[in-house]
Amino acid sequence: MMRICPVCSSDKSTLIFHDVNRREWYTELEWDFVSCNDCGMKYLTHILSFSEMWEKYEDIYVHPDILNISEKIHKNVPQISKKILDIGCNHGVQLIPYVNLGWNVYGIDLNKHAIEDCKKYLPEANFLVSTIEDVWFPDNMFDKIQTFHVLEHVYDPKSFLEKCYKILNENWEIEIRIPHGDSLEMKVWGKYSSQSWVPFHINMFDKKTIVEVLTQAWFHEIMVHTNPIPWWWILSFRQWKNTINISRWVTNFKQGYFHILIQVMLYPFLWILSKVWYGEELHVIAKK
Ligand SMILES: [Zn+2]
Repeated sequence: MMRICPVCSSDKSTLIFHDVNRREWYTELEWDFVSCNDCGMKYLTHILSFSEMWEKYEDIYVHPDILNISEKIHKNVPQISKKILDIGCNHGVQLIPYVNLGWNVYGIDLNKHAIEDCKKYLPEANFLVSTIEDVWFPDNMFDKIQTFHVLEHVYDPKSFLEKCYKILNENWEIEIRIPHGDSLEMKVWGKYSSQSWVPFHINMFDKKTIVEVLTQAWFHEIMVHTNPIPWWWILSFRQWKNTINISRWVTNFKQGYFHILIQVMLYPFLWILSKVWYGEELHVIAKK
């Protein structure tokens, strides 16, 4: 499928790099990553169809340690009348702080294995296998929407955000985390950077383009900053060396003291970079 700029709809772009998948080694296809000549948005010009893409996503899911997660959930918390929706909730861990505050918790994800895991340790919460585009919720239903590392995978980020706007309650917030297309990591490693994950990362926002697309979807009071993520630099290094299969690596990686040491050493440097807008992750909060 051919794409135009997902932010300004321009069809004029400049090639940044041409690459293959470097994490799961789906090397049968090659991809063009471009920058829009009109708004600067970075994106993939050709993408897989939804069903082809989905077949590959399903392979990648890693089951979490359910017992360990269950221990983090507080018992007998008084319920309050607030509702949160996590779009692309994965195994649901990022909803636990809200469960512990007594919020009504909703999560949707396309991965049925992830939703099965969520239901195991949060049986009272509401989990559904769906995309945001295909699910129905009443207008103004949620007091918070969070969506972490999802928007970079979405074919039409503007209509995704418009749907969020509709179901979010007046004056409440959406919180977004995405890889930062203008990070130092991206500049240093280019197509080898952890942020370049073709054909899965199809949108790469920077401060200007994320503000633009949120504004198009009527959000306001948009706050953006960047976060340091040291392990992404190790991943970039591994992608550069072409010695990685990500799902196996992430599991082993978490147990490695050497990797922890490198991350601790990198952290102060990356923290300073994130303060001057070169951090690895964009963290965005906007209001309806
Ligand atoms: Zn554009």
